[in-house]
Amino acid sequence: MMNKIDLRLFFTEEEWEKICDHCGICCLYKIEDYDTGEYIYTRIACPFLDIEKGNCISYLDRFHKMPTCAKISAETLEIAHIWMPRHCAYRCLYERRPLPPWHPLFTQGNEQSNAQLLSKITALVTAENDIEMCSKEKILSIRKSAIQMNPGKKIEKQLVANVIKDIKI
Ligand code: SF4
Ligand code: SF4
Repeated sequence: MMNKIDLRLFFTEEEWEKICDHCGICCLYKIEDYDTGEYIYTRIACPFLDIEKGNCISYLDRFHKMPTCAKISAETLEIAHIWMPRHCAYRCLYERRPLPPWHPLFTQGNEQSNAQLLSKITALVTAENDIEMCSKEKILSIRKSAIQMNPGKKIEKQLVANVIKDIKI
């Protein structure tokens, strides 16, 4: 862990939710390479991901409907940051890096409340953002070209056939 600040105590519940940019990339299935520990993203999306908007269509009920859905909290980030996309604001904050410049907090919504949240975020950041991150356009094209998991087919076969090879997410 980068430092002792508990991100969940540092942010209000509402602020924590606003940190997500709804890219939806974390809701794509991934394959773990046991030899390298690396996570490889696939184009297979969770059945509850709205591929067009990037939202979960069962957000309040997601852990019941999808038992493998991962809760993102300060505690779970200890492990989840390894497989979350590099641009994800939660991973950025866990690693104390700045958010990507296209994050909606910089571009959308209530400017005053965004400014308060952004000043908290700035207080956490201590590292350069020197990790190569996807552009917003690339993320949108990945999400919109994703296909929903087919429960009638073997999930392993679907995953292996749909590995995203050309980009580091
Ligand atoms: S990858 Fe991060 S920013 Fe994108 S939807 Fe998931 S939690 Fe939100
Ligand atoms: S159930 Fe979980 S993994 Fe599936 S779309 Fe909703 S938040 Fe994403």
